[in-house]
Amino acid sequence: MSRAIRMRKAVGTHGTLHRVHDLQKRHDAKQTLPTLLCDSPGCGAAVKFVAEHSRSGTAPAAPVHVPAYIALDKGAAHQPGCRYDAPGYLQTLLAAGTDPEFLPALGEGKHELRLLLLQQALKRGGGEASGAGTPLDGYLNTLVELLVLRALCESDALPAAQVTLRLGKKKVEWSNFFYEQERYDEAWERLGANATDLPMALVGTVRSHRAPQPGSMFLNCAPKYQHTGIADRRDFYEISVGHSDAAWLQSFPVGAEIVMFGLWRQGKSSTSSRPHPTDPRRTITSVTHKLALWPSFKRQLALVD
Ligand SMILES: [Zn+2]
Repeated sequence: MSRAIRMRKAVGTHGTLHRVHDLQKRHDAKQTLPTLLCDSPGCGAAVKFVAEHSRSGTAPAAPVHVPAYIALDKGAAHQPGCRYDAPGYLQTLLAAGTDPEFLPALGEGKHELRLLLLQQALKRGGGEASGAGTPLDGYLNTLVELLVLRALCESDALPAAQVTLRLGKKKVEWSNFFYEQERYDEAWERLGANATDLPMALVGTVRSHRAPQPGSMFLNCAPKYQHTGIADRRDFYEISVGHSDAAWLQSFPVGAEIVMFGLWRQGKSSTSSRPHPTDPRRTITSVTHKLALWPSFKRQLALVD
């Protein structure tokens, strides 16, 4: 199972840290890549860089873009206790976060994660003062670590096998809770369809920061571009996070991969048109769908690293 972990950094044989972003640049420039080892203390498993590529989706869906990552080399294994030994790391995380109110143990290493507590806290809001040092703070920490681990996994399989998500009496599928860039449209549709206050986690890559007026700042992630099958129409799904603390949002630099958790809102979709670059009879229409998050607690955002 740990073979399915997609690491974002590794070390060279002399201990230099290499991140996927830089390795991809060297790959694009056709430079020789360094020999890579797992960077988790005491592990040192042999790992390899996998360049970004496209995987053909099931027709008629568009090919899926797979971002660059680092994975175990053939025959290599992470040491027990390594943070990329996903099953072991998950068990440690769950054991440390076990709480009868929030993360009760179900036996055989399985747990239930109760989203209702978080949903209620997020609705109340109240900023950092009510968060720091309280049980809620601990719940958010556990959840965020779990989300970062999920982001490192190739799929929902490992967390879903160990952690059942529940909102009140309803079981929530991981696929209805955690969304990568290629499924932003599904997150957007889900919000529109039920307009419920279902907490959701999205993972994205920071693209820009924008301050439309003093006192508010937006962090924007790389959108999903959706092929619609309709000629000359383009659909985009844009993700943004708004907050009054500009410095905090800017602490997530452009290019960084982050998880964002909370109660999302659909923004107003906008449509724009421009002439086709080569055919004057045609017009290109772009429709932008928006999803926005206004975090109540800073723990709702975290780096995937
Ligand atoms: Zn390792």
